Amino acid sequence: MMRKMNDIEVVSFDVDGTIVDGRFMDGFWNEFIPKVYSKTHGVDYNTALKVVTEEYRKIGDRDVRWYIPEYWFERFNLELDLKEVLFEYRDGLRIYPDAIDALEYLAENYKIIAVTNAVRDIMEFELKDVRKYFWKTFSCPSDLGDIRKEPEIYLEICRRTEVSGKKMIHVGDHPFFDYEVPSKAGIKSILVNRTGKSTGTRHIRKLTDLIDLL
Ligand SMILES: [Mg+2]
Repeated sequence: MMRKMNDIEVVSFDVDGTIVDGRFMDGFWNEFIPKVYSKTHGVDYNTALKVVTEEYRKIGDRDVRWYIPEYWFERFNLELDLKEVLFEYRDGLRIYPDAIDALEYLAENYKIIAVTNAVRDIMEFELKDVRKYFWKTFSCPSDLGDIRKEPEIYLEICRRTEVSGKKMIHVGDHPFFDYEVPSKAGIKSILVNRTGKSTGTRHIRKLTDLIDLL
């Protein structure tokens, strides 16, 4: 049983894998990009997948470039327009039902923000159906110039919202970006883990579990 938290004013949410089903962006990076690479360069899909995956690995997810579609379009010589691609695949986007329920409830009593490593075009696309619940949104690469791998990024968000980290709770699905880093910034952090597989870190199973904690 987790202790109830007092004095929280702002609830901060990660987006991919937390509000929005992570399979949407997974599909973009690991199926769509290799497919276009295969067509553009005349290689079979499995070869394309291998090349693309290897290039992603070289950059790694602690480098801001990893999150910027235009960087990869250029690196792979793909003639793509991000907004057009997102629009074409819009039916694949799914907001977790428990996220909608939690947002609806929490927005009555707290200020809600989104903090993501995705670029602003992707974030806005992903949140458009639930945008009304959010007070402010932060795309770390687009708005803050780097991903949230250092506590400073979360401290900058505190400055920009004019809310002390002590009055903020951050919720997300990534043990490093959503737990370790905000915790270092003095922000209470909770992981959401819908799989139920234990990670050793305390977590909730669905976002509506927050309602009892706050
Ligand atoms: Mg996430």
